[in-house]
Amino acid sequence: MGAKPYRSIEGDAGTGLLILCDHAENTIPEPYGTLGLKPQDLHRHIAYDLGAAAVAERLAEALGAPAILSRFSRLLIDPNRGLDDPTLIMQISDGLVVPGNVGLGPEEIEARIEHYYRPYHQAIERQVEAVVALGKPPVIVSMHSFTQAWKGVPRPWAVGVLWDKDPRLALALLEALRTIPGIEVGDNVPYSGQLKGDTLYRHGTTRGLAHALVEIRQDLILAPEGQAEWGMRLAHVLRTVLSDASSALHAIELHGSLTDGVPGASAASGPARNGPPVMDERTKVELEAAAFRRLVGHLRARTDVQNIDLMELAGFCRNCLAAWYQEAAAAKGLSLSKEEAREIVYGLAYETWKAKHQTDASAKPRKRTG
Ligand SMILES: [Zn+2]
Repeated sequence: MGAKPYRSIEGDAGTGLLILCDHAENTIPEPYGTLGLKPQDLHRHIAYDLGAAAVAERLAEALGAPAILSRFSRLLIDPNRGLDDPTLIMQISDGLVVPGNVGLGPEEIEARIEHYYRPYHQAIERQVEAVVALGKPPVIVSMHSFTQAWKGVPRPWAVGVLWDKDPRLALALLEALRTIPGIEVGDNVPYSGQLKGDTLYRHGTTRGLAHALVEIRQDLILAPEGQAEWGMRLAHVLRTVLSDASSALHAIELHGSLTDGVPGASAASGPARNGPPVMDERTKVELEAAAFRRLVGHLRARTDVQNIDLMELAGFCRNCLAAWYQEAAAAKGLSLSKEEAREIVYGLAYETWKAKHQTDASAKPRKRTG
């Protein structure tokens, strides 16, 4: 595909803000046509969040902050869903079957992830890390819009703030928005912000960055005047919130979810803690080494897994790992023989391992594909 699946608004990283818009456009790339829908269906909320991109732009402009906006319809693949979420690619949206999404094979799903979903999230990650590196962990604001009624029931809120476990930005935003006269403000309505794997879970919660999702009712931001009004409003609210609680908001704090379900990781959950803004080099190397030791331990335990099978499936085997180890040692000026390096990986002499664990089957010619 040609154009990037996202759009960046440069802005000043020094503002320590990042504005996102997951459902910015209803664009469906050329080869997909209309995904089998009537063209007018692509102008409904099922395809994108009407007005949200314009508000995100006005907000970014007013604050001088960078923004990243998607450039593909959520109907193609929804960037605001975890990869294991059944609604990642909607087959039925608001009661409407999406023919182009029905019965997709794993290759097609992977292609959409690779060409649209992943580059969008990688762009966000790059921006986040660039701002963290400046020493001011960014505050993330994600702009969405919602329909004024759902299944015939009107929604009274002009704006809703959605959040999960990190209250820092959400509670401050709610408080500030409630000072605006004449509007109803929703707290985790019309949707809940507690969707594991969504955009803010991925870039906010697990990264320890203060964040909130702001939903504006669609009818208020269909026209340029409403878009400008809400852009200015939110800019004002954010400026207030940031000037009141800047140091708390620009800190990396883990609020729970990161370690959900990870055994032995409970020390990092529970009350907020101040982690280092970036992982120091030594810790990083130690973690990498721990992962390597675990891989080696796993390969030693799984003597049933033959080197030839590893080679065929993954293009590497225990001997490659040993060779990489040997090369890394050589790069540090340490001379290590092939046999010595292999012994580090196998945990015993290679010849001994072969005699004990290498099966005859591995000598047989293998079925080739392709
Ligand atoms: Zn949305």
